[in-house]
Parts: sequence; C-alpha cells; structure tokens
Amino acid sequence: GRIQRKLGVALVGLGSYSTYQLAPALEMTKHCYLAGIVTGTPSKAQVWQKKYGIPDANIYNYENFKNIADNPDIDVVYVVLPNSMHAEFSVKAAYAGKHVWCEKPMALNVQECEEIIEACALNRVKLCIGYRMQHEPNTRQIREFVRNDNYGSLQVIDASAGYFDGRSGHWRLDKSMGGGAMYDMGVYPINNARFISGQEPVSVMAYKSAFRPNKFHEVDETMNFILEFPNGLMANCATSLGINYNRFFLTCSRGHIRLEPFQFYRGLKGSTSDGVQFRDQVQSQQAFQMDHDAMAILENRPVMVPGEEGLKDIKVVEAAFQSAEKGIRVKI
Ligand code: NDP
Repeated sequence: GRIQRKLGVALVGLGSYSTYQLAPALEMTKHCYLAGIVTGTPSKAQVWQKKYGIPDANIYNYENFKNIADNPDIDVVYVVLPNSMHAEFSVKAAYAGKHVWCEKPMALNVQECEEIIEACALNRVKLCIGYRMQHEPNTRQIREFVRNDNYGSLQVIDASAGYFDGRSGHWRLDKSMGGGAMYDMGVYPINNARFISGQEPVSVMAYKSAFRPNKFHEVDETMNFILEFPNGLMANCATSLGINYNRFFLTCSRGHIRLEPFQFYRGLKGSTSDGVQFRDQVQSQQAFQMDHDAMAILENRPVMVPGEEGLKDIKVVEAAFQSAEKGIRVKI
C-alpha cells in the first residue's frame, strides 16, 4: 500500500555530523523527520528544541535514554556518538524496541559488532550502518561496471581517505574513545574495496606511520595497508588524520575507473578510460541514505547496509592493527 507515515528519528550525540549534516538532511527527506534528540549538553537541547520544534517529551540525555522505549514518536534511534559509544547505545536502542541506525565505524571490535547485531535480531528491529557511499549513485554505477566486466577484470584497487586534523584535545586522539585514522577514515577504503569488488579480503599487511608522533602517540595518524583477495585482486589502501587525500582508482584489464573525491559529502568527480564522467547525482547523500533506510523499515524489506557490513570492516581493521603491531601479514 501507499506509505502514509513519516518515521520519527532521534539523533543521539549532537556533534558536528548531527548538527551540520544529518539534522539539515532530515528536513530534506520524504520518509522521516527529526522527532527527538539525545544529548549530554543541555544548552544544545535548548537551541535544537527552538530550531526544530522538538517537544520537551522527546528530549533525552544519556542517563534517561532508556525511557525512549515508552515514546511512540520515536521509531528510529540514530547513534552519532564517539566510536567507543556506538555499541552501548545501539544495544540500548534495540532493547528499547527502536530501529537502529549506527554511524561508521560500527564499533571498536568484532565482539561489539556482534553484540549490536544480536540485540537488533532479538528485538526484531532493523539495523543500518551509516555508509553513505553504498547508497551514492556514482559508486553504485561503478560497482555495476565492475560486476559486468565493462572494463575487463578488476586487477588493482587503489583507495585513500584522509584529511589533516589539526585539532587537539579531541576524542579522535583518544584510544579509549576509538580515535585514530583507521576507525575514522580507514573504514572507507576497506568498505569501498569490499563493496566495489563484491569480494572479501583474505589477508592484510599494514604499516603505521606518523608525521606528528607526539600528538599521535596513542592512536594511528597514518596507516597504509594492502588487502589481498582470493582471486589475485589486491587493494592498496591508505588512511590518515594528517594527509589530505580522497580517491579511488580501479585498474582493470581493459581500462580504468577513478573517483576523486570519492567520499566527500558533495563534489564527487570521476571518469573512466573511455570518457564516462561522474558528477554528483543527489542533492544530499545523507537524505538519500536516510530515505532508503526509512523505506526499508516502512516496507519491511532488507536494508541496504546491514550490520554485517560494519562487522566485516571491523574484522579487517582488527587484523590491520595486529599486522602493523607485529610486522606480519595477518589472515582475516
Ligand atoms: P563530534 O565530536 O563532533 O560529536 C560527537 C558528539 O557526541 C558530541 O558533540 C557529544 O554530543 C557526544 N558525546 C557524548 N559523549 C562524548 C564524549 N565523551 N566525548 C565527546 N563527545 C561526546 O563527532 P562527529 O559528529 O564528527 O562524529 C560522530 C560519529 O559520526 C563518529 O562515529 C563518526 O565516525 C561519524 N561520522 C560519520 C560521517 C559520515 O559521513 N558517515 C561523517 C562524520 C562523522 P552532545 O553534546 O550532544 O552530548
């Protein structure tokens, strides 16, 4: 039947991604709206309440969050917290009977990812991981080119995602909060290589480096890593909180495909060896993603980016850390 209802979404953690991307994008969606907020900062609650017309009853903090179970306005809890808090709040949201949207990286380790997946399955709620890229039309088109061997067989993937982070005192520098380049940006080359190739890596060899070792003494500033796939395909990947790069290049047996930047919110740009051009196709990747995820809930269909997608990436992240630490190639 026709969809008549918009899903109410509660954003958990009102940091930069919630404030500057997700809240504005929610206003552009067709199938959901900002119904509530969960924040540890009362002054933000006030500002958001005014700006988005959120009723008192739909404002929570981290202590009273579990009462969200009794709130029929909230259908979806979107976890946009520091990485170390994803598992705790995703599991709590599932037990509150709410659908869970969890930002990347899904969690800090495989066990946490499995706990989230299990909690969502037990409570019969849907779980979506916030990989915009898997929704993004250019990326999907490139995946189709690869699937259909348009440029011959895929031989090498080169993928890098990083930016210069000059902040100090931020949780991204804190190991216990899930800081470092690999969790933040490294999951993009991993997810990209897996998504584009449709294959799972069997081993990883990783190298850790830093231009600012004093600042990055707890967490990785830069990681270079090679993913090995079963059929001979290799992915050369890099990620950094000190280097500005954002691209992938696919070398195929009869041509190539590139996208640079490949992961920005807007301004995606790319081409193929035979002149196909890639430019932005959607106004807001976040709105596009949230509408897909809302539709999957409303129509009770499988979601586009399920928990297993987050888990498989974290498996690679864990193996890469181990590889860099020991100086050996690690099986995944
Ligand atoms: P920010 O640091 O800007 O915001 C995090 C928010 O979490 C804070 O503002 C705060 O909100 C809340 N919080 C609760 N406890 C803590 C704590 N101990 N320390 C710091 N903050 C705390 O992070 P981002 O918005 O950049 O990132 C949030 C998540 O979103 C990350 O997992 C990140 O990987 C992901 N992300 C995804 C992107 C994508 O394109 N898919 C892009 C950017 C980020 P409050 O004051 O309301 O409690």
